[in-house]
Amino acid sequence: MNTTAALIETEYRLGAHNYKPLDVVLSRGEGVYVWDMEGNRYLDCLSAYSAVNQGHCHPKIFKAMMEQAQKLTLTSRAFRNDQLAHFYEEIAALTGSHKVLPMNSGAEAVETAVKAVRKWGYEVKGVAENKAEIIVCSNNFHGRTMGIVGFSTDPDARTGFGPFAPGFRVVPFGDIDAFRAAINENTVAFLVEPIQGEAGVIVPPVGYFTTVRELCTKHGITLILDEIQTGLGRTGKLLAEEHEAIEADVTLIGKALSGGFYPVSAVLSNSEVLGVLKPGQHGSTFGGNPLACAIARAALKALTEEGMIENSAKMGERFQKGLTDIRSNIIKEVRGRGLMLAVELVPEAGGARKYCEALKQLGILAKDTHGDTIRIAPPLVITAEQVDWAVEQFAKVLASA
Ligand SMILES: *Cc1c(COP(=O)(O)O)cnc(C)c1O
Repeated sequence: MNTTAALIETEYRLGAHNYKPLDVVLSRGEGVYVWDMEGNRYLDCLSAYSAVNQGHCHPKIFKAMMEQAQKLTLTSRAFRNDQLAHFYEEIAALTGSHKVLPMNSGAEAVETAVKAVRKWGYEVKGVAENKAEIIVCSNNFHGRTMGIVGFSTDPDARTGFGPFAPGFRVVPFGDIDAFRAAINENTVAFLVEPIQGEAGVIVPPVGYFTTVRELCTKHGITLILDEIQTGLGRTGKLLAEEHEAIEADVTLIGKALSGGFYPVSAVLSNSEVLGVLKPGQHGSTFGGNPLACAIARAALKALTEEGMIENSAKMGERFQKGLTDIRSNIIKEVRGRGLMLAVELVPEAGGARKYCEALKQLGILAKDTHGDTIRIAPPLVITAEQVDWAVEQFAKVLASA
């Protein structure tokens, strides 16, 4: 049976229940829209957690993928392929990075950075063996591996999964004094999101990252910005660090690096950090494969050549203003940057989930997070008419409550 109900039942019966998705079964996507099995159309306001910034099934990325898939998909890094150098060149030129290390998932990019920066700490900074410390923030989200959930502060993410690796120190996000106080001679890195996405689109206080950058430079600490969600146009800039006029030493990107076609991530480095990795010390069978590189090249090209970053800034402002203008006694706050937006509801609203269900009825797919917050992150190709229509639907759902 191939009905919506049957597929949901089968998923429930055979799949691990590590997600609780809305009951909509999607079978097609194009641009900002996705369609369910009954043919209902929805405006996608999640964009696969910002992996489809370029819009669903972008034709040029699709073409690059098909052409490469017919020629060569995987060589492993034991041999070279004719796409990797081009990918390095293009991503380095775009981001001003000096070194690139390609991986697959975002979590792998984070793990790679943690490994590299520890080794850098011992070999370059001179930290005593096994004493390296990395400062992270409370309510962080950096992925789901054992290494990463060990320094999460979310009980769901970590409870029951220990024992965890030592070497991480947690400070409140946006609190510069706490960061300063956590620094010691063993601190090798500060790993942080420019805007905390999973935590509910938390924008830090103005000037926070300027001081973070100064402190990192002063104390020889590698600033690792996890731009896996904020990067590649989501906040209206290529990288969110540009809003703060700073440069990270290490930048992590993933998600939209492939426009949603394939898992591709990368560690970008401005310092000598990636230089400490020698042959045999790190790798990945699929990392840097020609299919991934061809897709990433096309995804970056679409992002920059089709004006998606500028559109994100413009449409983000329009969307945020539209949401801010909604008169509703259940909206606590509208916040975000570019097209990385959130509406936080007051506790009396009874949770964001039921409003996401109501939005779904009106043709909008959005995600509730942390109980009271609705995240809004449509593909960056959204038009003014589509933004205005979306705002109307939000107004219907939130004003009527
Ligand atoms: C999604 C995300 C990750 C993890 O990426 P995966 O591809 O799911 O492993 C890491 N950091 C941030 C900020 C993310 O949003």
